[in-house]
Amino acid sequence: MTIPTSTQIDSPDYIPRHLTKNPARGLLIVAITLSTLLISGCSSGQSASPPTPTALSAQLEQNSHPKITEETTALPLPIATPTPASSPTIAPTPSPFLRGPIVIGTSVAGRELEVFQFGSGDSQRMIVAGIHGGYEGNTIRLADELIQVLTAKPDLIPPTVTLYILRSLNPDGEARSESYKGRTNENLVDLNRNWPAYWQSTWPLEGCWTYTYVSGGSHPASEPETRALMNFLLTYRIEALISYHSAVLGIFPGGQPPDPASISLAEAISKVSDYPYPPIETGCQYTGQLIDWASLQGIAAVDIELTNHEDTDLWQNLKVLETFLTWDQAQPNP
Ligand SMILES: [Zn+2]
Repeated sequence: MTIPTSTQIDSPDYIPRHLTKNPARGLLIVAITLSTLLISGCSSGQSASPPTPTALSAQLEQNSHPKITEETTALPLPIATPTPASSPTIAPTPSPFLRGPIVIGTSVAGRELEVFQFGSGDSQRMIVAGIHGGYEGNTIRLADELIQVLTAKPDLIPPTVTLYILRSLNPDGEARSESYKGRTNENLVDLNRNWPAYWQSTWPLEGCWTYTYVSGGSHPASEPETRALMNFLLTYRIEALISYHSAVLGIFPGGQPPDPASISLAEAISKVSDYPYPPIETGCQYTGQLIDWASLQGIAAVDIELTNHEDTDLWQNLKVLETFLTWDQAQPNP
C-alpha cells in the first residue's frame, strides 16, 4: 500500500473550505439521508412509526439540536410543532429515548463537553468526535449530522443498545482555528496523547504529526477534557467506542498490540467502509492514546480517520453506524 505524503495526511497549510456551517447544505444532506432511510426501512426491529412528512420537515426546520438542560432525568424526544414558534415544543413520550445535551465536564477555557444519548438498551456504546479540535472539524460536523439523523429516525437504534455521542471533545481547539493550530487544547496538549496508556510527555517525532509543538501533558490525564471523558466511559460502563479523526490513514484498533475485541470491531467496520484496514503505517510510535487506554479497560475501541479534512463521508458513516450498533463481540463477523 502506498504511504501518503505528509501533504496528503495533514497539510499544515490546509484549511477546509466549508468548515463554516452551511445550514442549507446540511439540511439538504440530512433531508436526502432521511428520505433514503425512510424508503429503505429499518432493521432494528423496533416498531416506531416513521414521522409524517410534516413532522419531519418541522424537525429539520429546527436546524439545531434540542437544548435540554435537565441532566439527571430521562427526557422525551422533542417534537417540533408546525407553527412558526421559534423554540421547539417538547412533547412527552413514554420512552426515555433521548437525552441531551448532557454536560459531562468543561474544557480548560470553560467550554462545555456535550453528550447526546439515544436509546436505553443494556449495551452502552459511544462515539467521540473532535478530539483534535478545529483541525479535524469535519469529525464534529459528522457527529452533528449523526445526531440529526438519529433524532429524526430514532428506531435506527436497536432496543438492546444505548448510544452516546460526544460531538466535540476539544471545543477550545474547535473555537481557536480550523488549521493545525486548532489541534490541541488550551494548554497546547494533544488530547490523544494524554491518556494513561504508554504515556510520554514528548515522544520520538519520526513518522508522527510534527507541524507544531504539542505535548502529552504534565502527567497522564492531566487535562480536564481527558478526565471528563474517562469518568464518563467508566461510570457508564461503555463497552464499545469509535473515536473519529481525519484524515486518510484508516481504521486503527485499540491496544498495543491490538486486543481481539477491538480487532473484531475494526474488521466489521472495514467490511462496510472504504477506509484502509489494516491502517496505513507511518512509523509513528503512538503514546497516550484514547483507544489504547480504552483497550486496557476492556472496551472495544477503534479510531476511524475520515477521507480528508473537509468531508463528513456521511453515507459511508451511516453504514459504519449501523455496523457499530449491531456488532456483537460474542459473534464472529459475517
Ligand atoms: Zn486526529
